[in-house]
Amino acid sequence: MAYIITEPCVGVKDAACVDVCPVDCIYTRDADDQYYINPDECIDCAACEPVCPVTAIFSQDAVPPQWKSYIEKNANYFKTGDPKTLKRK
Ligand code: SF4
Repeated sequence: MAYIITEPCVGVKDAACVDVCPVDCIYTRDADDQYYINPDECIDCAACEPVCPVTAIFSQDAVPPQWKSYIEKNANYFKTGDPKTLKRK
Protein backbone atom coordinates (compact mmCIF):
# COMPACT_ATOMS: atom_id res chain seq x y z
CA MET A 1 0.00 0.00 0.00
CA ALA A 2 0.98 3.62 -0.37
CA TYR A 3 -0.23 7.14 0.02
CA ILE A 4 -1.83 8.75 -3.04
CA ILE A 5 -1.85 12.36 -4.27
CA THR A 6 -5.20 13.31 -5.75
CA GLU A 7 -6.91 16.09 -7.69
CA PRO A 8 -6.63 18.99 -5.19
CA CYS A 9 -2.88 19.06 -5.87
CA VAL A 10 -3.47 19.86 -9.53
CA GLY A 11 -2.38 23.40 -10.22
CA VAL A 12 -1.23 23.89 -6.61
CA LYS A 13 2.00 21.90 -6.14
CA ASP A 14 2.56 23.36 -2.68
CA ALA A 15 5.34 20.81 -2.00
CA ALA A 16 4.94 20.81 1.80
CA CYS A 17 4.72 17.02 1.47
CA VAL A 18 8.09 16.85 -0.22
CA ASP A 19 9.75 18.51 2.78
CA VAL A 20 8.40 16.02 5.31
CA CYS A 21 8.71 12.74 3.42
CA PRO A 22 11.46 10.72 5.16
CA VAL A 23 12.23 8.59 2.13
CA ASP A 24 12.03 11.29 -0.60
CA CYS A 25 9.48 9.38 -2.65
CA ILE A 26 7.38 12.36 -3.85
CA TYR A 27 8.23 13.57 -7.33
CA THR A 28 7.18 15.79 -10.19
CA ARG A 29 8.47 17.07 -13.51
CA ASP A 30 8.54 20.71 -14.55
CA ALA A 31 5.76 20.19 -17.08
CA ASP A 32 3.47 18.38 -14.64
CA ASP A 33 0.62 20.01 -12.77
CA GLN A 34 0.82 17.89 -9.61
CA TYR A 35 3.11 15.79 -7.43
CA TYR A 36 3.13 12.00 -7.40
CA ILE A 37 4.09 9.42 -4.76
CA ASN A 38 6.11 6.43 -5.90
CA PRO A 39 4.18 3.46 -4.45
CA ASP A 40 7.28 1.26 -4.54
CA GLU A 41 9.17 3.68 -2.29
CA CYS A 42 6.44 4.97 0.05
CA ILE A 43 6.72 3.47 3.55
CA ASP A 44 3.19 4.46 4.62
CA CYS A 45 4.41 6.72 7.41
CA ALA A 46 1.54 9.23 6.93
CA ALA A 47 3.76 12.28 7.51
CA CYS A 48 2.67 13.92 4.27
CA GLU A 49 -1.07 13.70 4.78
CA PRO A 50 -1.60 16.37 7.48
CA VAL A 51 0.79 18.93 5.98
CA CYS A 52 -0.97 19.17 2.61
CA PRO A 53 -2.76 22.56 2.58
CA VAL A 54 -5.39 21.35 0.11
CA THR A 55 -6.05 17.85 1.55
CA ALA A 56 -4.89 16.09 -1.57
CA ILE A 57 -3.14 13.13 0.07
CA PHE A 58 -4.87 9.99 1.27
CA SER A 59 -3.94 6.49 2.30
CA GLN A 60 -4.69 4.22 -0.65
CA ASP A 61 -7.64 2.61 1.14
CA ALA A 62 -9.10 6.02 2.05
CA VAL A 63 -9.02 7.74 -1.34
CA PRO A 64 -12.46 9.32 -1.95
CA PRO A 65 -14.48 7.52 -4.64
CA GLN A 66 -14.30 10.37 -7.15
CA TRP A 67 -10.50 10.30 -7.07
CA LYS A 68 -9.87 6.52 -7.14
CA SER A 69 -8.33 6.88 -10.62
CA TYR A 70 -5.42 8.69 -8.99
CA ILE A 71 -4.25 5.41 -7.44
CA GLU A 72 -3.39 4.14 -10.92
CA LYS A 73 -2.29 7.60 -12.05
CA ASN A 74 0.35 7.79 -9.31
CA ALA A 75 1.63 4.27 -10.07
CA ASN A 76 1.66 4.78 -13.84
CA TYR A 77 3.56 8.03 -13.51
CA PHE A 78 6.69 6.08 -12.60
CA LYS A 79 6.35 3.67 -15.52
CA THR A 80 6.41 6.34 -18.21
CA GLY A 81 8.82 9.08 -19.15
CA ASP A 82 12.52 9.36 -18.54
CA PRO A 83 13.25 8.75 -14.82
CA LYS A 84 16.15 11.19 -15.07
CA THR A 85 13.66 14.04 -15.48
CA LEU A 86 12.00 13.35 -12.11
CA LYS A 87 12.45 16.11 -9.56
CA ARG A 88 11.51 16.55 -5.93
CA LYS A 89 11.00 20.32 -6.13
FE1 SF4 B 1 6.49 9.85 2.04
FE2 SF4 B 1 5.39 8.86 4.29
FE3 SF4 B 1 3.88 10.25 2.58
FE4 SF4 B 1 4.73 7.82 1.90
S1 SF4 B 1 3.31 8.31 3.56
S2 SF4 B 1 4.77 9.64 0.61
S3 SF4 B 1 6.74 7.77 2.90
S4 SF4 B 1 5.63 11.04 3.78
